[in-house]
Amino acid sequence: MSFDTLGLSADLLATVAREGYTEPTPVQSAAIPLILAGRDVLAAAQTGTGKTAAFVLPILERLRGHANAGFSPARHPVRMLILTPTRELAVQVADAVKTYSRGSSLRSAVVYGGTRIDPEIKLLWKGVEILVATPGRLLDHIGQRTVNLSQVEVLVLDEADRMLDMGFIPDVRKILGHIPSQRQTLLFSATFSDEIRRLAGEFLHNPEIVEVAARNSIADNLTQVLYPVDQSRKADLLIHLIQRDHMEQVLVFTRSKIGASRLASYLDRRGVSTSAIHGDRSQQERTRALEAFRGRFVKVLVATDVASRGLDIENLPYVVNFELPFEPQDYIHRIGRTGRAGASGTAISLVSPDEVDELRGVQRLLRKSIPCAVVEEFLPDPDREPAPAARPRGGRAHLSRTQSPWSRPGRSTATPTYGQTQLSAAAGSR
Ligand code: AMP
Repeated sequence: MSFDTLGLSADLLATVAREGYTEPTPVQSAAIPLILAGRDVLAAAQTGTGKTAAFVLPILERLRGHANAGFSPARHPVRMLILTPTRELAVQVADAVKTYSRGSSLRSAVVYGGTRIDPEIKLLWKGVEILVATPGRLLDHIGQRTVNLSQVEVLVLDEADRMLDMGFIPDVRKILGHIPSQRQTLLFSATFSDEIRRLAGEFLHNPEIVEVAARNSIADNLTQVLYPVDQSRKADLLIHLIQRDHMEQVLVFTRSKIGASRLASYLDRRGVSTSAIHGDRSQQERTRALEAFRGRFVKVLVATDVASRGLDIENLPYVVNFELPFEPQDYIHRIGRTGRAGASGTAISLVSPDEVDELRGVQRLLRKSIPCAVVEEFLPDPDREPAPAARPRGGRAHLSRTQSPWSRPGRSTATPTYGQTQLSAAAGSR
């Protein structure tokens, strides 16, 4: 399919051509005509599917018809509001808006917490048609009357599932109280949980549903491997693997902010240059960490799932799951950062005996088992009970020592398969 058939004007077709896009992605083919027709849309699409252009391009098409070149702020009311869960995603979306709206007189701005509000206020006073915002900071502006949303025509909730996870929905509801109820609403979410559908029922009017294949299909050139290891020895195993395989750019995921900080300082102390990115760090610290990683001034970037959302760091050679995520879908999001666009990539999971439930969830989602590799000196100690890890839900996984897939596979360093059957046996012993 070509972009020409979607109903975009020549100017915007020139824009996509300038960006080097030769054909629309599936979410763009499906969503752009619906959005141009003014429909509310509920779309399941993850970062990396081209979702930002899927909502920005058709809205630009609609807004540019009334674009005003006048200088007065009154001539540039906020007409499109895009809410995102994280600052990083806000910045990324705002960059895309700037790119796609180049050459038009439409003005855009981005506001997010963790930075000084004064420069944002100055920007807003000048008037912007397209505003990208995180919910908390936008409420600050509403409270200070530095923004007026009474002329918003289109509301986009980007990564609504993350907004839900991060507890932003009450803020979104408050913001909705300041926006006309007669509007077009677009909700993008990586997943369609029952809660997301409920929210769609609340925020959207008779929406069209767009579902593109999730990236459950892992790229062919992506190698997945897991290493069994006790939790307490994961950092040392990671250092061993980085040195053994001469890894130069490694994105490491941890479950918690504190875990990310601790790991980053441990690696740094052990001579592996590392920076960390998580919700407790200031915007400036995150930007610095990301730039250091992109510029290869540090080898390792440790990130939490939430902080990594919206980060434009992809096509990495290595992604490491220091711990498996609680949500299997997050495994797919994480490893999707490697092995893309034809480049080869390796996704490594360091899995301790207490993570058997999470591993089972991931393998069920993948519909296959992840091959297991062994570094003999780091194999879990079979005489030690699995650590009573803090588990947010469900009980503690417990593996019988006799049936444990963690038991040493003799002296062989062959790659044993850590398959579904063994997992069931392990589960049966709980
Ligand atoms: P997104 O899912 O919006 O984060 O987009 C992911 C990446 O895909 C961005 O770097 C876009 O520039 C790029 N992209 C968006 N649409 C297309 C397209 N039709 N063809 C090629 N790349 C695209």
